[in-house]
Amino acid sequence: MFIDIHVHNHYEDKGVMLLLNIFPGDTDKINPDGYYSIGLHPWYVNEETLDNDIAVITQSAVNPNVLAIGETGLDKKIDVPYMKQLQAFEQQLDIAEKLKKPVIIHCVKAYDDIISLRKKFNQSIPWIIHWFNAGEQIANELMKYNCYISYGQMLFKENSKAFGVFKNMPLDRVFFETDDTGVSILQVYDKASLVRKMPLGNLKKQIKNNFISCFGDLL
Ligand SMILES: [Zn+2]
Repeated sequence: MFIDIHVHNHYEDKGVMLLLNIFPGDTDKINPDGYYSIGLHPWYVNEETLDNDIAVITQSAVNPNVLAIGETGLDKKIDVPYMKQLQAFEQQLDIAEKLKKPVIIHCVKAYDDIISLRKKFNQSIPWIIHWFNAGEQIANELMKYNCYISYGQMLFKENSKAFGVFKNMPLDRVFFETDDTGVSILQVYDKASLVRKMPLGNLKKQIKNNFISCFGDLL
C-alpha cells in the first residue's frame, strides 16, 4: 500500500491510499470510502468569509473520514495579511487539538513562526509539514517537536535543501505526497527508496507505520 498524504484532486489507484485535501467549500466531496483533510489554505484566508470557513471546518472535521486538519499554515510570499493568516491558522490548530487530529501544514518562508507556534501551543497531535523545503537545522527542530516532513516533487530536485535533508533524516518522520504535481506516488516512493538505498517493500512498511502512529490503525 502506497500512502499519498497530500493531494487536491481525487484519483483512483487500487494500491494507493490517499488523503484528499478539501477546502471548506468542498464538503460535498466527503464520502464514506475516502479519507480527507479539511482546512483553510493561507492563500484563501479572507476577512469576510473567515468565520464561516472556520465554522464549516469545525463541523466537518468531526466526520471520522476526516483524518486531519489542513492544509493550513503560513505563507510570507503572498498578499493575504499575515496577521489574518495567523488568526486562521491558530483557529484551526484549536480545532485539531480539540479533535486530536493531526495538522497538514503549508509553510513558505515562515518556518521560524511555525516552530514558535509549535512550542507555544505545545500540542500532542502531530503536525505534518507538506512540501517541505528548508535546511537541516529547521528539520531537526521540527522533528524534535514531533513534526513529520512530507516530500514529493522536491525529491527530484537534487540540489534543493529538502533533498539534502531527506538523504539523512530518520525515516520514521517521513511522509510522501503528490500534491497534484504530475509525479505519481509510485515515482516518489521509488526515488526515495533509491536515495535511501532501502528496498521499496521496507519503505512502504515504514511509511505505513508512520501513518498508523499519526492516525491510528485504519489500514
Ligand atoms: Zn497542497
